[in-house]
Amino acid sequence: MSNPYPHLLAPLDLGFVTLPNRVLMGSMHTGLEDHKRDFGKLAAYFAARARGGVGLMVTGGFSPNIAGWLKPLSSRLSMPWHVAPHKQIARAVHAGGGRICLQILHAGRYGYHPLSVAPSRIKAPITPFTPRALSSGGVERTIRDFVRCAQLAREAGYDGVEIMGSEGYLINQFLAERTNQRSDAWGGNLENRQRLPIEIVRRTREAVGRDFIIIYRLSMLDLVDNAQRWDEIVALAKQIEAAGATLINTGIGWHEARVPTIVTSVPRAAFTWVTKKLKSEISIPLITTNRINLPDVAEKILADGDADMVSMARPLLADPDWVNKASAGRTRLINPCIACNQACLDHVFENRRASCLMNPRACFETELVDAPLARKKHFAVVGAGPAGLACATTLAQRGHAVTLFEQSHEIGGQFNLAKRIPGKEEFVEPMRYWGNLLAERAVDVRLDTRATVDSLRGYDSVILATGVTPRTLSIPGADHPKALSYLDVVLHGKPVGRRVAIIGAGGIGFDVAEFLTQSAPSPTTDIARWSHEWGVDKTYANRGGLTKPAPEASEREVWLLQRTPGTPGKRLHKTTGWVHRAALKMKGVKMLGGVAYERINDAGLHVTIDGKAQVLDVDNVIVCAGQEPQRELYDGLKAANIDAHLIGGADVAAELDAKRAIEQGTRLGAML
Ligand code: NAP
Ligand code: SF4
Repeated sequence: MSNPYPHLLAPLDLGFVTLPNRVLMGSMHTGLEDHKRDFGKLAAYFAARARGGVGLMVTGGFSPNIAGWLKPLSSRLSMPWHVAPHKQIARAVHAGGGRICLQILHAGRYGYHPLSVAPSRIKAPITPFTPRALSSGGVERTIRDFVRCAQLAREAGYDGVEIMGSEGYLINQFLAERTNQRSDAWGGNLENRQRLPIEIVRRTREAVGRDFIIIYRLSMLDLVDNAQRWDEIVALAKQIEAAGATLINTGIGWHEARVPTIVTSVPRAAFTWVTKKLKSEISIPLITTNRINLPDVAEKILADGDADMVSMARPLLADPDWVNKASAGRTRLINPCIACNQACLDHVFENRRASCLMNPRACFETELVDAPLARKKHFAVVGAGPAGLACATTLAQRGHAVTLFEQSHEIGGQFNLAKRIPGKEEFVEPMRYWGNLLAERAVDVRLDTRATVDSLRGYDSVILATGVTPRTLSIPGADHPKALSYLDVVLHGKPVGRRVAIIGAGGIGFDVAEFLTQSAPSPTTDIARWSHEWGVDKTYANRGGLTKPAPEASEREVWLLQRTPGTPGKRLHKTTGWVHRAALKMKGVKMLGGVAYERINDAGLHVTIDGKAQVLDVDNVIVCAGQEPQRELYDGLKAANIDAHLIGGADVAAELDAKRAIEQGTRLGAML
């Protein structure tokens, strides 16, 4: 078979070691790094990706000292007794045929604790703690701590380290005047501001020898004001190369930046242009990153010469066998990362273990395991939404016979709504994956088929994943022609006027607002348009690579309403909610809380806000008021003595949520 991805699967010779391909599993905190009792699980997590063919991996960040903690008692490698637990990670990865570097991350002023330090005493907008300014002796000690951490990593058996110099953490804080206002040898002019990373790399190389990988993660696009200029970044890259780095990885955006960098509405490969800009300036290999999720995207980046290697973290959570599947011509079976952040980054921010919405086994490799098959059974799964698909494919993988009933003409359930929302084009991929997986595992799929109690007789067990129906309103005029459900609008394409009120500001209300205010095709499919909207400047005229955002105007006037007092959107997911709120603000959507709905009539939507009655003169009122479970079959099956299980929205509609649905479906499928 010919090589389907010649650039992606080409080896990379680093002089003292040759990587088998151009895939780097980028650093991502999983929550398993913080306690040594979890290192066995962490080792299993990395070992699965090593067996899956990843060329090189990087751990989540480990602090070189206490001041550099991300949060109290978080991951740190600074003492000889910290080494032993790491050995099992390195051993497991090597046994799986992989290589792994430890990331050294000093949080600086992003440290969520009172012991944090920074170049200057300037608080970050994203933590409540004001850092202490490091003394010059403190800077020297910090460099020694980085070097020591690298030496300990080598002792633990790692193949190298990544020195985290981007994303607004300590090193990045030294590089930018916005956070470095020192007047000693570590601040002021450019040479002084750049001294810290150069010294760290130079002294680390001296300490670890030539045959140890040093990746330096270089902030190529800060996306905040008063940050680095492009010529400064080039000068730093050259000196990092001279100081002994093996590879330079790309960092995009400080954590406090107000430009989205990794969420699903960011176009694929939106930032590889900045890596390419640096390529002709240095000679060591460059790694690019952000919103690269599938082999054809990665192959094109490498074929176009934007970089020498691609970094992906979340896509390898979603599918540990990503590389092996790409190599074997089985790309159609890659479980896609949809960049939702729901089970990975959102969990980490909530101090929970990371996993993956599409792959609930991620970080649970030793726990969410298939039960041995005692007897092959025949299951009926009713409903081909995320819950039903996860359950059907898991049952079939274990060797059970599975018949999947779906009353509509397509699989995917609620994901078929999501894929129509501008900025959520990525939601097409799960259906590609599940469709191919159903065929691969020989699931008998019956589309356009409404299951009945009678048609479900004869199976060993029935799994009801019948989903939800939209909640309807009970106010006067709820049946007025102006009133539409979100299904009417998004799925059935009913015409919508220029002035619109949306009742309900949950995830779907926000999605519908985006649907109604974005012009087609969505900017997510066009890097230049998207960059223009959010103020990302490819010409790099200003520090930080920012320019004034220039959102495209909406053709509609939209009100997004909720009964709960306060601004809508507070309950959206942590790492993506702010993007949805900012996107709608750019479109002029009026978001109101504390609204009482009175009635709908020819005049529009009658509401009371702050005790004042008013009429919103709108052409349409779109109801996005949550859902009710759809589970009529359940009672019938019970009455007929048929073993039945409820999963997904049919089980708990109030928590209609793909993450919960897929996890529940997978767990049940692994157990029955
Ligand atoms: P939801 O998040 O529960 O929101 C329902 C909205 O309807 C709330 O704003 C609620 O606000 C309002 N509401 C509830 N009962 C009502 C009633 N009787 N009359 C009028 N308003 C009522 O549900 P959803 O928007 O349908 O989303 C469902 C799930 O889909 C979410 O939980 C999420 O997991 C997922 N989802 C997420 C996203 C995202 O994060 N971007 C996008 C799509 C879907 P008040 O009670 O304050 O009026
Ligand atoms: Fe990707 Fe979402 Fe899974 Fe995170 S939870 S790895 S963003 S699919």
